[in-house]
Amino acid sequence: KKKGLDFKPKSVAFWKDGESIPFMFLARAFDLISNESSRIVITDILGNVFRTVIATTPGDLVSFVYLSACKIYPAHDGIELGIGDAAIIKSLSEAYGKSETQIKKELKKEGDLGLVAKASRSSQSTMFKPAPLTVAKVLDTFRILAKVSGKDSQERKRNHIKALLVAASDCEPLYIIRLLQSKLRIGLAEQTVLVALAQAAAYSERPSDPPIEEAVKVIKQVYSVHPKYDTIVSALLSDGVLKLPDTCTFVPGVPIGPMLAKPTKGVSEILDKFQNRDFTCEYKYDGERAQIHYLEDGSVEIYSRNAERNTGKFPDVIQSVQRFKKPSVSSFVLDCEVVAFDRKNSKILSFQKLSNRARKDVSIDDITVQVCIFAFDILYLNGEQLLQEQLNVRRKHLYDSFVEVPGEFKFATEVTSNDLEAIQTFLDTAIVDSCEGLIVKTLSTEATYEPAKRSNNWLKLKKDYMDNIGDSLDLVPIGAYHGRGKRTGGYGGFLLACYDDEKEEFQCICKIGTGFSEKMLEERSSSLESQSYYRFTDATNPDVWFEPTEVWEVKAADLSISPVYLAAAGAVDAVKGISLRFPRLLRVREDKKPEEATTSDQVADMYRAQKINHGNNQDEEDDN
Ligand code: ATP
Repeated sequence: KKKGLDFKPKSVAFWKDGESIPFMFLARAFDLISNESSRIVITDILGNVFRTVIATTPGDLVSFVYLSACKIYPAHDGIELGIGDAAIIKSLSEAYGKSETQIKKELKKEGDLGLVAKASRSSQSTMFKPAPLTVAKVLDTFRILAKVSGKDSQERKRNHIKALLVAASDCEPLYIIRLLQSKLRIGLAEQTVLVALAQAAAYSERPSDPPIEEAVKVIKQVYSVHPKYDTIVSALLSDGVLKLPDTCTFVPGVPIGPMLAKPTKGVSEILDKFQNRDFTCEYKYDGERAQIHYLEDGSVEIYSRNAERNTGKFPDVIQSVQRFKKPSVSSFVLDCEVVAFDRKNSKILSFQKLSNRARKDVSIDDITVQVCIFAFDILYLNGEQLLQEQLNVRRKHLYDSFVEVPGEFKFATEVTSNDLEAIQTFLDTAIVDSCEGLIVKTLSTEATYEPAKRSNNWLKLKKDYMDNIGDSLDLVPIGAYHGRGKRTGGYGGFLLACYDDEKEEFQCICKIGTGFSEKMLEERSSSLESQSYYRFTDATNPDVWFEPTEVWEVKAADLSISPVYLAAAGAVDAVKGISLRFPRLLRVREDKKPEEATTSDQVADMYRAQKINHGNNQDEEDDN
């Protein structure tokens, strides 16, 4: 049941059991991973690293996991390193005795401060060998760095960075710098870290350890309701994988991955998909997802779609809580959409209005864009989690525990009917009421809340796209082309990619040049990168490669099979990929990370759905 790894932990360990593990061990593993493209091999490498840690110094495991996931704290703690390039350049200059001008020059050539650091370190002659860095020390220093504030904070931060750089050798400076920038750039995403952790746990000596597949399932599920490595790793080490769901439960104050919807193109498709199950339709509000947590001690936290702490953005919502919650409620977690709202005219405003709102540490007096909360689900109430309850039961709790406050808090407007005409009318009303369409949800069977899952039990129906491909796509710009004519000197177009979450790589899907303001074209910054986790053909080679950092929502006329673009290659054609025709930029999705872009599986699903609905048999397309 557990074959595949030929592993002898002791033979690779060069520290004594229980001793802090050198950072070099992790840095070398990162190096190995960066040279690999096979997901299985990458997972094995990291799984072996974790196994070694478990077998020798288990207390270090949590630091290994955080750094492999390129994090210093859980995202929901909202603590970021926030170290800019300027500070890194200055620290490098001071640590390695080079001028800042020289470092900037090398950065231009290498395109990566990590590589500059590595080269600078290796060309520096040192009198004596510093004590080796340990993984725990590196993470601790990062945590201290993140909290440095007040007088001389810049200088104190640089001193911490310098201390790390001076003690680093070989490939260590490369990864110290990249971790400081919160980008490892070795093609290692968090999903692989979870699988590797499961693999390591399944291989440990405990007789009750489950097979790997079971361990992976448990760890992914536990992480979706409790994304906190500290608790997960310590429970794993003390009680094994199978006990994790008992300890790492859903609690207010730790956000869970939001349930997601699948696209549909028409009212009749809903009836097909839901068959005999009863369902309900809700307005699909166009704002920003918010998970509102109210803790027993009266504190409130608000988390974004990707579990980041957004509390500082909505002091007004925090004040509203006491007005919309009934006095009997002592703790809750609500799933909602925050929408820009014109309170005078009682009207929903556009998403653009909401994006004008300041993002961090907003003070109530500075708020210019008012918001209203539209609550559509309740996941936790008075000490009990409700994830396993059916939607009709959760909804009853929602209605019973809260009151609507005009302009501040409303229940999502809903209609429960399986009459096609009634649904169509409701969809039209949703659009008139400035919503994007509907979300249709199963109600009393197969209607539990599925954390972090794109579920067949939630379907989104957007008016705009009903005639073509059912939904817009969220894509990542991975490169750009120099402009010609009017756009000479700037960029003329971009290469976009979807994300393959199995292979953990970005796969090019189309070029785009439409929908941009001139300002946007000028603003995009470029940096040369290794393309190890980009999948593309020479025919799409851009002039400049980008780091994957942004997500753009794009609308297209349709999808076609392409020999040039490699999105979902192998899924609907043995070798060819899928491309978008006539793509057009709708907006930048600031609430999504590149790994949350539309996946290759979704692209393949969209293509298949289009074929069924329109009998599209256009096979080969130009590369637009
Ligand atoms: P996805 O999350 O599916 O990738 P997305 O973030 O691009 O998609 P959409 O595809 O537009 O968003 O649709 C899902 C989003 O719609 C939810 O994440 C939520 O923010 C929003 N939403 C608005 N109204 C509702 C509702 N009544 N029920 C559930 N979600 C809603």
